[in-house]
Amino acid sequence: MRFHKSETAFFVFVALVLVAGGLILHAYSVLRAGSDSFYAVESLARIAYLSKLLFATGVLLSTALFFGMFFIYPLIRIQVREEGKLRAMTESLSARSETLEHAALTDGLTGTQNRRYFDDALREYLQEFRRIGKPVGLMILDLDHFKQVNDNHGHDVGDKVLREVASCLKDMTRYHDVVARLGGEEFAVVAPNMTEVQLMKFAERIRKAISNLAVVSGNVRLKVTSSVGIAVWNGRESADDFYRRADKMLYEAKRLGRNRVCA
Ligand code: GH3
Ligand code: MG
Ligand code: MG
Repeated sequence: MRFHKSETAFFVFVALVLVAGGLILHAYSVLRAGSDSFYAVESLARIAYLSKLLFATGVLLSTALFFGMFFIYPLIRIQVREEGKLRAMTESLSARSETLEHAALTDGLTGTQNRRYFDDALREYLQEFRRIGKPVGLMILDLDHFKQVNDNHGHDVGDKVLREVASCLKDMTRYHDVVARLGGEEFAVVAPNMTEVQLMKFAERIRKAISNLAVVSGNVRLKVTSSVGIAVWNGRESADDFYRRADKMLYEAKRLGRNRVCA
């Protein structure tokens, strides 16, 4: 077994104090044994012996004190400082990993959740809602003719439109709804605990709100519309099948002329 430097120093300190204690006890017993002696010569020899013992004890205790002050205490200080540094490092690392985790699940342009988060959240919602037997609604939303926005007004304006649509979605959804940008100009909303009728009304409100947005670019007020596919989970299908069903409805909305909700 290997001891740390500070442990060895502590053992040396304890050994010195123990030996000093032993010497004091020994001196005490010598003193007691000679207290009834009448012979001056013997007393003198005993006093000389006792003073040696006392001197040795003093030396041992001083050494222990010196050792404690100049060896053990600095080691303790170093350890305390290192522990502080380590704690600060651990804190900054965990803050960093939280930031990284947040970045890994967030869409950089709009601040909504990203595809990865959406996939996990949808799967988790379905698992949980299978247990409690409640409906889960899903809305897939794609901006109409968005390529033209980029072509006519530039990519930066396109980005601004995406941010405003995302912000509108966040404003209109509830706390436990998941709003995610799936990629490009396509968004999804997972709306738990909604029947098909409720989801239809909810999607209509969102579609209207998006069509009422006016994104200002120079002296132009830009309008965008969206097509929305919705589906309510049938309680059996997988997350992928559920997603595909809502996506099919989105294409149906596009096919029927855009700017509409299809269920
Ligand atoms: P549709 O109504 O059929 O959906 O037509 P669309 O033009 O919206 O669809 P299309 O798939 O042809 O074009 C999507 C466009 O979205 C093309 C691409 O330049 C643009 N886009 C994708 N991602 C971004 C982005 O991050 N920023 C900007 N500004 N544009 C993007
Ligand atoms: Mg589009
Ligand atoms: Mg698209």
